[in-house]
Amino acid sequence: MAVALRLSALIAIQMTEPSDIARALAAMRKVREKRCAVCDKPFTTRGRGLFCSAACRTKAWRERKRANAQLAQPDQKGGG
Ligand SMILES: [Zn+2]
Repeated sequence: MAVALRLSALIAIQMTEPSDIARALAAMRKVREKRCAVCDKPFTTRGRGLFCSAACRTKAWRERKRANAQLAQPDQKGGG
């Protein structure tokens, strides 16, 4: 990935502290405009975010969990 290239470039420059590298990488990451995978609302993210909010993330997680539960045995005991 491009991130790996950037990271090696940073190390070549002279950054030795891991926290410095992490900070530089975070600053390098550009804020991106995306659309929420759940409600299709536009939002900005720095990372690999898929959802506009924690609520949407939870909703997607629940739906995925439910889909998995349907695939699994119906007598499975809920553990959380
Ligand atoms: Zn959303």
